[in-house]
Amino acid sequence: MQNRGLWKTHTILINMEKVITKSQIKAAVEEAYAECRNLKGGKNADYIPYLANIDPELFGISLTLRDGTTFDFGDTEYKFGVESVSKVLTALLILKQYGAAEVLRQIGADATGLPFNSIFAILLENDHPSTPLVNAGAITACSMVRPQGDSWGKWEAIINNFTDLCGSEAQVIDELYKSESETNFNNRSIAWLLKNYGRIYDDVPMSLDLYTRQCSVGITARQLGICAATIANGGVNPVTGKEVFAPEIAPKITTLIATVGFYQNTGDWLYTSGIPAKSGVGGGVLGVLPGVFGIAAFAPPLDPAGNSVRAQAAVKAVMSRLGLGVFNGDTVRITD
Ligand code: GLN
Repeated sequence: MQNRGLWKTHTILINMEKVITKSQIKAAVEEAYAECRNLKGGKNADYIPYLANIDPELFGISLTLRDGTTFDFGDTEYKFGVESVSKVLTALLILKQYGAAEVLRQIGADATGLPFNSIFAILLENDHPSTPLVNAGAITACSMVRPQGDSWGKWEAIINNFTDLCGSEAQVIDELYKSESETNFNNRSIAWLLKNYGRIYDDVPMSLDLYTRQCSVGITARQLGICAATIANGGVNPVTGKEVFAPEIAPKITTLIATVGFYQNTGDWLYTSGIPAKSGVGGGVLGVLPGVFGIAAFAPPLDPAGNSVRAQAAVKAVMSRLGLGVFNGDTVRITD
């Protein structure tokens, strides 16, 4: 009897292993690129003037495996505004600096179900910024970055963390930074409202400026794919081999991404795509399939919630072609 029980368990494990070859993955990315390339719909963000003028035809998709193999198709070397995807990177920095429990206490980990720049969400959450992945929580996160009170030191910590996660340097697009700084009135209101609730832990204009600056960083789809793969790989950058954060942080950041990465559309996204992902109004999407790969796609035109139409379609196409999903219960093994 006992043996039969063991045998059964063993069988189940074998059945749940999914073996995929690298060439199948490459083909899935290539086909997703071809399928979505001419997809129309959406509109560039225009509340930040710089973004309105980016070529809407740009489109790239990049997937990085845990062994560092990368598959790139399209405009994967084009530097676009990282925008809200930057929230993931700086959330990782404060998770490193403060630990998961303290981030939960000082910011929170709740989905807002509301747009990324919602002031209403702050009021509804009873003075809490909800999560580091919406504007409010991201501004609070910038206020938490150490060293406290030192604008330059904080910026260095933020941008060095970008480099570590992406495996290469990223720089602010000056024109974008200027454009955002001149028009970020809503974010100024958020920052001061949070100050009123005691949720900005450093100088207010400095914290807002750091947030604006990190949103203005130019990043490539390839870099974002590597950043996603670093998360999927438990904190070790698969391209540089550097341990960027401790393995226990990976499920925390992936939880935050899964719960709020597409704002009010997050449930629909996860339900239809099967992969936790984070979007930005620059047109980027970063997706993490834990233990398997990181993926990034980029195309400027956005849906009404501010998520890239073509990038969403491309990531979904890769997932469905490979038959993968974060809740599928498969153990995925990738072979040559
Ligand atoms: N910088 C943008 C803002 O704060 C980022 C928003 C986004 O990408 N969703 O409004």
